[in-house]
Amino acid sequence: MAKVYFRYAAMNAGKSTQLLQVRHNYHERHQRTLLLKPHLDNRDGEDIIKPRIGGLVAKVDALIYPETNLCTLVEDDRRTKGKLDCVLVDEAQFLTPGQVRQLCEVADFQNVPVMCYGLRGDFRAELFAGSAALMALADDIEELKTICWCGKKATINARVLDGHVLREGPQLLIGGNETYTALCRKHWLLDAPLPTST
Ligand SMILES: [Zn+2]
Repeated sequence: MAKVYFRYAAMNAGKSTQLLQVRHNYHERHQRTLLLKPHLDNRDGEDIIKPRIGGLVAKVDALIYPETNLCTLVEDDRRTKGKLDCVLVDEAQFLTPGQVRQLCEVADFQNVPVMCYGLRGDFRAELFAGSAALMALADDIEELKTICWCGKKATINARVLDGHVLREGPQLLIGGNETYTALCRKHWLLDAPLPTST
């Protein structure tokens, strides 16, 4: 029986690198994958997956829009291109809860494994809608670890402006001056994004 996998992290944990490695492994075995990513307005080159550390780069097979039905998308892909061995989803935190259920149907009724990679929560330490649905429904959940500057495990993708942690505001920003940094909970609570911050 095919499963739904969710691999989550705070930022900079190498999610895209691992996703592309998995895809590469399928292709080496002459198996076919379908690489998907939610559409966002605030990114350049959004149909390209390019890990921060370099290495493998890939163009997505299809962008996911809020109205996209993933059952239909996968069915159509299998009908036109043949056997499909794995569905891979990057930035899965931006899926709608309905789309997460559709991915479960892909696994359960079309028998195609689905691997989703995404962030656990936003800068306010609240779950993204897609991540919450995956936490509730995925068969296999694993955390990809990254560390805070202090060396402890980072769990929050903190939004930082002028050296301070922001804890309120819209979940998605377009064109702001904010940056993101992975922090442990303590340093997120202390508003201490860097060792030199006061
Ligand atoms: Zn810390």
